[in-house]
Amino acid sequence: KMATHITTTNPYNNTSLETYTYYSSEAIDNILNSANNTFKTWKKASLSKKTELLKHVADNLSKNKEKYSKLMTLEMGKPITESIAEIEKCMYLCDFYAENAAILLSDEIIETDAKESFISYDPLGCILGIMPWNFPFWQAFRFAIPTLTAGNTVVMKHASNVTGCALAIQQVFEDAGYPKGCFSTLIANHNTVETIIENDIIKAVSLTGSEKAGREIAKIAGAQLKPTLLELGGNNACVILNDANLDAHLSTIVKARMQNTGQSCIAAKRFIVEAGIYNEFLNKFTEAVATLNFGDPLLEDTKIGTLAREDLADTLEEQIKASVTKGAKVHYGNTRNKAYYQPTILTNVTQDMPVFTEETFGPVAAIIKVSNKEEAYKLVSNTKFGLGTMIFTEAVEDARQQIINIEDGAFFINDMVKSDPRLPFGGTKNSGYGRELSREGILAFTNKKTVYVK
Ligand code: NAP
Repeated sequence: KMATHITTTNPYNNTSLETYTYYSSEAIDNILNSANNTFKTWKKASLSKKTELLKHVADNLSKNKEKYSKLMTLEMGKPITESIAEIEKCMYLCDFYAENAAILLSDEIIETDAKESFISYDPLGCILGIMPWNFPFWQAFRFAIPTLTAGNTVVMKHASNVTGCALAIQQVFEDAGYPKGCFSTLIANHNTVETIIENDIIKAVSLTGSEKAGREIAKIAGAQLKPTLLELGGNNACVILNDANLDAHLSTIVKARMQNTGQSCIAAKRFIVEAGIYNEFLNKFTEAVATLNFGDPLLEDTKIGTLAREDLADTLEEQIKASVTKGAKVHYGNTRNKAYYQPTILTNVTQDMPVFTEETFGPVAAIIKVSNKEEAYKLVSNTKFGLGTMIFTEAVEDARQQIINIEDGAFFINDMVKSDPRLPFGGTKNSGYGRELSREGILAFTNKKTVYVK
């Protein structure tokens, strides 16, 4: 039998936070109709009005930074300093589109034998966003801000464990002065979401989530010929070559894996290390990881929180156990208590182990030793995922030769793979398709209409 309620839980102390009732089908119909009606006027609203509202969103986030940060941390265990940084990043996103939307959305004139011909970037209508819990504000805003600014309306189904955030985000848009129906949160289970995708009012779907969810959502949307944008899992390689400058980059390399307690799609998951620097890297990396203190995520000096749910720690534990059975060695860590998983370093990792072939969504670094660069690059692409690759080396020109060989959506030299509103973000292979952020993101849900005036 389907559940009728969601109860959110603080994963740090396992206490219940709040109970929410799934919306009735009548309530959902009202929300969809409102999104559909509002679209008719919203699409014609001036761009200056739309960008003015973005500034109000940023102000609202700034004013309520503490409140929203605390809510994220309570619902999914993220260290509070990272929650605050997440809200600030959302503010920057609003600023970026407020400043650049006019240029990004302007007609693109193309000379032909017509008197006038151009591309008009028109909104599609009501877009459904299905979002994950790991960056509860950022993921939602990354989708909603450019989508709304392009003239679409948005309904969002957020991950159930961050329902409080989902409602707070709706409040942000309401308080900023968006017309009712521009942005709505839906509290709905998977079955209901399937029928929502089939509703004529929904014109496209954006999903950030697991590969499994991607396959399910794309199948339902595909049957309706509705476009999807999929931001799915990742298994990014982090290559450390013999000439890497560890003094300069070690803290970045640690952050690349341990940020958000390891629960990031673009985290470094497979560390591919050349033999000549292997011992030095392992020593320094281990030393740095050992200083990351676990504690109450609401405290400012906490660097590692709990995982967002206890079952996520179960999955991680199974992946590690199965890898150890195949010969991986626990070099550091690997204790566990409910939703807490200690930062863990595994060595002797080979390509047949789950920590190499699967995405690990927690603070576990899989270390692979290779005898040369060629072997390193071969391992990089031996994955079904394609979000990003990072490489640390002083031979930058040499690394640039690999651009053409990297099959991922991103290639970072001497930095961690990270998102930036100015740059496109997205994956290849089983990490999904489509791009968010930058010009790509604001055009993602537009009708690129050819206009021809003879
Ligand atoms: P998930 O289980 O796939 O859930 C993501 C969202 O999809 C949630 O809102 C979930 O709802 C919903 N969902 C899942 N299956 C559905 C279905 N059949 N019908 C309707 N809704 C469905 O993923 P997660 O565990 O929350 O997030 C972790 C995953 O997301 C990782 O694989 C990570 O790499 C990926 N991720 C990717 C990116 C990126 O940008 N590429 C960013 C962050 C995370 P419920 O909560 O109700 O189940």
